[in-house]
Amino acid sequence: MASVFKNALSQLDKAAKYLELDKDILEILRNPQRILQASLPVKMDDGSVKVFTAFRVQHNDARGPFKGGIRFHPKTNLDEVKALAFWMAIKTAVVGIPMGGGKGGVTVDPKKLSKAELERLARAYIRTFKDFIGPQKDVPAPDVNTNPQIMAWMVDEYEQVTGQKNLGVITGKPLELGGSQGRTAATGLGGFFVFRQLAKKLKLKPKQTTVAIQGFGNVGYFLAKFLHEAGYKIVAVADSKGGIYDKRQLGMDPDHLLKQKQSKGFASGCYCVGSVCDCDNYQKVKSDKILELPVDVVVPAALENAINKENAGRIKAKIILELANGGVTPEAEEKLLAKNKLVVPDVLINAGGVVVSYFEWVQNLQNYYWTEEEVNEKLDEIMSRAFSEVWSLSNKLKIDLRTAAFVLAVKRIAGAIEKRV
Ligand code: NAD
Repeated sequence: MASVFKNALSQLDKAAKYLELDKDILEILRNPQRILQASLPVKMDDGSVKVFTAFRVQHNDARGPFKGGIRFHPKTNLDEVKALAFWMAIKTAVVGIPMGGGKGGVTVDPKKLSKAELERLARAYIRTFKDFIGPQKDVPAPDVNTNPQIMAWMVDEYEQVTGQKNLGVITGKPLELGGSQGRTAATGLGGFFVFRQLAKKLKLKPKQTTVAIQGFGNVGYFLAKFLHEAGYKIVAVADSKGGIYDKRQLGMDPDHLLKQKQSKGFASGCYCVGSVCDCDNYQKVKSDKILELPVDVVVPAALENAINKENAGRIKAKIILELANGGVTPEAEEKLLAKNKLVVPDVLINAGGVVVSYFEWVQNLQNYYWTEEEVNEKLDEIMSRAFSEVWSLSNKLKIDLRTAAFVLAVKRIAGAIEKRV
């Protein structure tokens, strides 16, 4: 598989052609400011010790503290975390929030750990990187396989080792521990707000628009829920165990699917043992085939490289909403664009999570908390404005939406770097 970080840099190079960018600044943007890697020894419940590899990559903080999630996944590696950190720097600039970009990860299958082992791993991560994170340095958050409970252990560990109350060090926390209203649903809701603006431009009719979603975790589920509530037809969904397709295209209820999936219980106290495939009344489809179904909108919402040069030619949907970071490879995107398909890029459509993470950080620093309505209203404002700016630039320069988003973002980051040097 090609390097994900190389893919990310090729997106930067494509955008750089539309910018009169100082070559020194481009060189700064091509390189993470700091790469941290550590081995975390964690005591297992049986008394043995397992060592896990952990990463934190801080790509750029010219516009504000580094910001980005921590992923727990067996395939997590440095190349992936570098790409994710880079995309975070672009994303915070696309939506215009005053933060930079970073990302973390641990190479682990968290579903094989007990709840107590998971907690020890989360705490070990923070003890190891404590000197490099902080509310004014680098603010982590959840990503794939990490959640508010894990963030709670992490913030508690940070406060214990630093001896200070400091809730603003991490976002995506539970409400009881300084979390923000609306954070859990924010990435899906932000994606919905962007899609709603796009649907207006394209004059889409919800009841006549079918959607397939690959990934039914935090992002996939909430996007499905908001689309369903707005009348769109969710006709296929998939998780890591497989997918289901409503061949009659009547539309599925995401809440019903979630209930079924959760009815089998949870591993390590938080990971669903069940799958959307447990819902009997639909045709079973392989997870990757879900992307090739005859629908209007397809949504990769799981992991990177879901749409790649092999399957790009088989994508039938006219619109691709890239909720997964790096869900479409650059080679695949060229093929899709050549067929006049519209790709709404990750750095725009999935930015809702980091926007509400930013709101959470602001609330923690002020020690003053907002209502869910206030949060969602502000989120809509930021996401809709970002869409409109990217859409206008794409039309003005006659470039695809991703390149437009990168042009906008790189200008903002470069501006901040230039003013500093
Ligand atoms: P999650 O762990 O909550 O869910 C991931 C989902 O993907 C699960 O349903 C899992 O079963 C499924 N999955 C994994 N491999 C799959 C495969 N091969 N085929 C089909 N499904 C598969 O993670 P999440 O937070 O929903 O993140 C999903 C994507 O969204 C990631 O790319 C992440 O980086 C991105 N993202 C997340 C956030 C956030 O706030 N959580 C914000 C921005 C972007």
